Amino acid sequence: MYVKYQNVVLKYFKTQAGYFFQKIAYTLLQFLFSYLSDMPPQRYIAHFDLDSFFVSVEVLHDPSLKGKAVIVGGSKDRGVVTTCSYEARKFGVRSAMPMKQAMKLCPHALIVRGTRGEYSRYSRMVTDIIAAKAPLFEKASIDEFYLDLTGMDKFFDPYQWTIDLRNEIIEKTELPISFGLATNKMVAKIATDEAKPNGYLFVQPGMEKIFLAPLAVNKFSGVGEHTFELLKEMGIHTIQQLSETPIAILEKRLGKYGADLWKKSQGIHHGQVHPYHEAKSISTENTFEENKTDLDFLLSELVRMTERVAYELRQDEKLAGCIAVKIRYPDFETTSRQTTIDYTFRDDELIPQAIDLFHKLYRKGEPVRLVGVRLSELTNHAIQGSLFDDSEKKNKLYKAIDSVKSEFGKGLLQKARTVKKFKD
Ligand SMILES: [Mg+2]
Repeated sequence: MYVKYQNVVLKYFKTQAGYFFQKIAYTLLQFLFSYLSDMPPQRYIAHFDLDSFFVSVEVLHDPSLKGKAVIVGGSKDRGVVTTCSYEARKFGVRSAMPMKQAMKLCPHALIVRGTRGEYSRYSRMVTDIIAAKAPLFEKASIDEFYLDLTGMDKFFDPYQWTIDLRNEIIEKTELPISFGLATNKMVAKIATDEAKPNGYLFVQPGMEKIFLAPLAVNKFSGVGEHTFELLKEMGIHTIQQLSETPIAILEKRLGKYGADLWKKSQGIHHGQVHPYHEAKSISTENTFEENKTDLDFLLSELVRMTERVAYELRQDEKLAGCIAVKIRYPDFETTSRQTTIDYTFRDDELIPQAIDLFHKLYRKGEPVRLVGVRLSELTNHAIQGSLFDDSEKKNKLYKAIDSVKSEFGKGLLQKARTVKKFKD
């Protein structure tokens, strides 16, 4: 009923009053009607994703790569594809694919080893632009963001606002980025995929099901090869076919996940945008029973603590972009120093940074009361393969170490380095 009145009054203003009054009146009316009605506000979620992010950064540094089949990844025989350009994707190359296989599919592809610091720097640049504008956003990975724009439609057109934000990101970073705007996270993400490369798409409220209908069922995250085949066996290829299948049948074949899929096929998804906190960190500190001056002891403590926070980082499935070291002297004077780093969860990358910070901070020979290590600028771990040949092996090694640590307690397993005397 209110909606009906709202339309009548708005029509009056559109014909009777000037644009300025119209805007003010519209805003006031929206407020009034939203107060009066019990309807929850219309949700608007934007999903931003940088297009083949690592390749785009490489192209910025070397414009001759533009328009070519480019693969960012490790060595030809042992590495994996981290990401690849759209030109390489045309040949079937995909992220996380062994380089050997990728080179068979696309032998003329140019291979770039990857400049890791630059990726973190550009990721931060985009994060800062979004943080300055968006009321609430989630950094889903190094190159992916969800923005909750609910309520904004009282003041702005959310679609135009999102277009403007995209333009600003492209202008300031020169990186291609796509977005999908919709009433929930799931539809927004799929809209981004459909909009790529370097495009955008708005799925208007109420149009979710129509938008999804013609798409293949494996557009839903979680529908892997196995489920995809199973659904095909059932004669379900498109999301429309999925939406027309009785839930009971889906549940029988796929269990609870079947019902979940059916819900998705209706365009329904209630996932929240989890706010991104720059300050979120993992830290540990140690106050010594007596003040310490032994450098070897202090360094081995520092390494042990860094291993501990790195372990927690991996347990949270995060990467850190910043590390800080804190030293407190007996008179309670506390100093700390931090540095931004390439996103990582690896001990062998974090420990040298911690030691470096410690040396810059520590006044040699003075007794120390407390040492602390803190990791911050945490982001979700999205890089599947890694950029260095040995990293896949190392990641596996960390997983193995961590599972032992979890089982037997963290103190048991320390790398030889921590135990032996440690010098810079
Ligand atoms: Mg991306």
